[in-house]
Amino acid sequence: MKTILTGDRPTGKLHLGHYVGSLRERVKLQNSNEYDKIFIMIADAQALTDHADNPSTVRENILNVALDYLSVGLEPAKSTIFIQSQIPALFELTAYYLNLVTVSRLERNPTVKNEIAQKNFETSIPAGFLCYPVSQAADITAFDANIVPVGEDQSPMLEQTREIVRKLNEIYGEVLVEPNIFLSSNETCRRLPGIDGKAKMSKTLGNCIYLSDDAKTVAAKVKEMYTDPLHIKVSDPGHIEGNVVFTYLDAFCEDKKTVAEMKEHYQRGGLGDVKVKKFLLEVLEETLTPIRQRRAEYENNPAEVMKILKDGTAVANEKASEVLQRVKRAMKINYFE
Ligand code: ATP
Ligand code: MG
Repeated sequence: MKTILTGDRPTGKLHLGHYVGSLRERVKLQNSNEYDKIFIMIADAQALTDHADNPSTVRENILNVALDYLSVGLEPAKSTIFIQSQIPALFELTAYYLNLVTVSRLERNPTVKNEIAQKNFETSIPAGFLCYPVSQAADITAFDANIVPVGEDQSPMLEQTREIVRKLNEIYGEVLVEPNIFLSSNETCRRLPGIDGKAKMSKTLGNCIYLSDDAKTVAAKVKEMYTDPLHIKVSDPGHIEGNVVFTYLDAFCEDKKTVAEMKEHYQRGGLGDVKVKKFLLEVLEETLTPIRQRRAEYENNPAEVMKILKDGTAVANEKASEVLQRVKRAMKINYFE
């Protein structure tokens, strides 16, 4: 069986980083018809680990994320889209997995460490936040997923999940499937920088181009994109390292030859930022226009979107309950079976 699980936090609309890091790959995998099951989770419970005081944000973004999914071409007939908080088995599994992880191991998780610094939690880290990698292990294993298409920031999470799986299997027998990370083959796509040049485009950092931005907004964002601060006159030789306009071309432009020529010209001098940005905007619009068109089909029908989520959640519940029963049996806590 080849099973995929992946998902996103409903903390905002999805952006180009999500698209190249994970969504685009998911759609390709979905349409390859090589996978038996595809589960796509809206991780609202995980979002609450750092948004406990802001339930409205999480609630509102359930629909936004679902719309983003449908707009990029995820199809409910092929991919099961569901809401994490509505799958009780995930929380039971998390409770048992927590016994297999040490606090110091959680504190060493590099992604969690980064996020703690970024969110200024300092010493008041919510316990749920520190433990979210364990709940992620439950999310992945509850569906017997062996393939997890995500961005690079998730690789420490996958590692932690694999450790939990090995530990549980060692104690209770071969119960869980060990998952593998699936990273984009295009290295630039594994961690797309923000339009401000910061290492990661992220909702939290506010440096995003959203899939739902209109053409005018995208044009304005491309215009303000970080390039090479030393490239002042058009005739000056420019740098392409850290120049996000070129990074985005690497991530989005299929015509690698033209990009290589432009890079060379830019480095030699004589190619202005305005021209490169104009080209990038055209390339981005090629991706974004069909996404906007599909979005328009669903946008005025939130009831239909909620129905898709409800149906997907029912399917997901069935599978996760099955796996939970298997784990409980192995743990010898199946008293009334
Ligand atoms: P938040 O700030 O709320 O954590 P986020 O922008 O980091 O939001 P997530 O919902 O945490 O988004 O991530 C969802 C998926 O998108 C993950 O697989 C993650 O690796 C991927 N992803 C997020 N940002 C990027 C990016 N800039 N480049 C590549 N992949 C990304
Ligand atoms: Mg994140």
